[in-house]
Order: sequence, then structure tokens, then C-alpha cells
Amino acid sequence: MNKNTVYIIIIVVGFLTFGVVAYSYIFSSGGGGISDSKMTWVKCSNPSCNSAHEMKLKEYEKQVRERMRPPAITTPALTCNECGKDTVLQAVKCENPECGEVFIKGSVRGDLEDRCPKCKHSATEDSRKARLAGRE
Ligand SMILES: [Zn+2]
Ligand SMILES: [Zn+2]
Repeated sequence: MNKNTVYIIIIVVGFLTFGVVAYSYIFSSGGGGISDSKMTWVKCSNPSCNSAHEMKLKEYEKQVRERMRPPAITTPALTCNECGKDTVLQAVKCENPECGEVFIKGSVRGDLEDRCPKCKHSATEDSRKARLAGRE
């Protein structure tokens, strides 16, 4: 890579960063650590429904907080738009491009919570492996 290429990359990255900062500054509604654009998958655990969709993480966490009833320690389920039952839980979309399964977090008991029950892929495990590999 020559010097000019490096300069161009720095300029482009700097420009993009500025754009993102300006964008979030203009559109931020104030308060909350999570950006408005961050999405999460949710899936209905009712076996006869199984509907899954993406929603804003902020909205998901807000609804969970409203449903939290101490001393319960489990994350409360949200109401499903499809079947009307309180069975919607946070889900993960499998990062394996050949799979793409949307599954409820922690589907594989006793394993990583993002372990795909279909293809056994886990993004957490992948990044751990990458870190270990980088150490060698
Ligand atoms: Zn449902
Ligand atoms: Zn998968």
C-alpha cells in the first residue's frame, strides 16, 4: 500500500465517522445508552406460531423493563403480535450465511446463548477462536 492510498483511507474513514456522529447528533432523541438504530431479533416461542421479526433493541428493552416483576430473575416474554400470547423472547439470527436460522437466545441448553440449534454455529465461539488464534 503506498502513502496516497493510506491518506485516502484516513480521509474516507474520518469523513464517515463525522457523518455518523453528525447523524446521531441530529437524530438522537436524548437519553439512553443504546442507539435508536440498533436492532434485535425476537421470536415467538409458541410452537404453533414461531413468528420472528426484528425490532429496535431500545424498544425491546423498554418493553422488558415494563414487564419486569421482582423477584423474578428471568427475562419476561413480550406479547406476540401474531398469536397474542406472552411468548416472544429475544432471538439471534445465525451468522452462518448458509443457515440464517432465527432462534431464541439460549436455545441450546448449557451452551453459548448464540449457539444455532440448526447448524451449531456460534458467533461468540467464532470470536473466541479468532482471539485465541491471534495470540499464537
Ligand atoms: Zn406468536
Ligand atoms: Zn445456523
